Amino acid sequence: MCKYNQITICPFDLGDWKWRDALQNALKEIFDIEVSYTVEEPIPAYSYSGNREQFAGEPFLEKLFTLRNDPKEIMLGITKEDLYAPGLNFIFGLASPAGICVISLKRLDNRFWGLPKNDELYFKRMLTEAVHEIGHVLGLPHCPDPHCVMHFSNSLADTDEKGYRFCAKCEKKAKESVCR
Ligand SMILES: [Zn+2]
Ligand SMILES: [Zn+2]
Repeated sequence: MCKYNQITICPFDLGDWKWRDALQNALKEIFDIEVSYTVEEPIPAYSYSGNREQFAGEPFLEKLFTLRNDPKEIMLGITKEDLYAPGLNFIFGLASPAGICVISLKRLDNRFWGLPKNDELYFKRMLTEAVHEIGHVLGLPHCPDPHCVMHFSNSLADTDEKGYRFCAKCEKKAKESVCR
């Protein structure tokens, strides 16, 4: 049974962000549903951990939950800050079955790793992480196929290897959860 009919992207403090239209169009094409933006939101202040110099992912989800207007809406938060979850050094993203997810762009940028800037790679990674977390929202677990977007990423090398496309099995499951 289908559960969701739209994706709403929430930019957390992204400012003048050049990927806005590209991400919207790519997600629209992949999931074949409406994709829109909320207004810019501030980073949830209580998410910051001074010890870790990172931001907890959970408060972003809580904020997104309050911004959600419709149970058929998937909320995707985007931040440039580095995210973590308890017990993990960092996370690329986080999803809840309640229709909400968030991704961090921090480690998707080559410059984080002391490498030269690469816009094409950066956007591909952003799309891969966004599709992966939305896939979790749609109820998909991790997939053993290393070229499927639902494969687990331990590192950026895994993210680059898998890419942003679903394998046939996951694609079928994802499409069933989207209402048209
Ligand atoms: Zn995952
Ligand atoms: Zn798969």
